[in-house]
Amino acid sequence: MNNSIPLFGAFLLAGAAAALDYAESASASVTGSGDRGLVDDLVAANHVLYRQGVVDGFGHVSVRHPGDPARFLLARSMAPGLVTADDIMELDLDGNARDPRGRTLYVERFIHSEIYKVCPEVNAIVHSHSPSIIPFSVTAVPLRPIYHMSSFLGAGAPVFEILEAGGPATDMLIRSPELGSALASALGKSAVLLMRGHGDVVVGDSLPQVVFRAIYTEVNAKLQAEALRLGQGQVNFLNAEEAANATETNNRVLGRPWELWKQQAAGRD
Ligand code: MN
Repeated sequence: MNNSIPLFGAFLLAGAAAALDYAESASASVTGSGDRGLVDDLVAANHVLYRQGVVDGFGHVSVRHPGDPARFLLARSMAPGLVTADDIMELDLDGNARDPRGRTLYVERFIHSEIYKVCPEVNAIVHSHSPSIIPFSVTAVPLRPIYHMSSFLGAGAPVFEILEAGGPATDMLIRSPELGSALASALGKSAVLLMRGHGDVVVGDSLPQVVFRAIYTEVNAKLQAEALRLGQGQVNFLNAEEAANATETNNRVLGRPWELWKQQAAGRD
């Protein structure tokens, strides 16, 4: 009994220290000692998109901060295939870095910040110059779901016309919050937005989902162009019900290709 008071006191102290640790880690940045798993997944997403031909020296992928919806993680301005954990930065919804440390930001970060601002259901975003989708951004031919893997295109893939928001003399890039905001409006509830003469934006509720969608958007564009040629313009696409059902099915198995692509990107295949 004599020992119980000091022991209890020590327990209290340990508890207080643990509570302090917790408070610190809860407010600490994900890019610090926080959610290392998410940073690693974001690094992997960069490498996967490069290996799968969605991004090249350009393009980017981001994920919303799991503890603060007003923040997101994005690499510093660099080629996605070379991104490491140290390159991951935290940005706010105005596109400012919380801890820049001299690192340069992507010019087009406003694509991410403005979409996160107005789409609470979006937790991950890919912007790329995915080559096969470009023809669909500059013609009247809509990108449509040609098979079940790209069923998310059933929600439509509108085209963002930068002339309308940016006038006739932009360099085609989303360089400002204003252009980002116009782009986010054009996206609406779609999973994919084509950017005329530039590339696309793909959104999802997680990194595995957005990577899946970005890859199958590129594949769909290739297959659709081929089917249009083969069928001389006559192609049977998934109907709305098929697309919705296939999307539900696909969402249950996103982990399978994600693990494969991660292994491939890590050079373990
Ligand atoms: Mn771009």
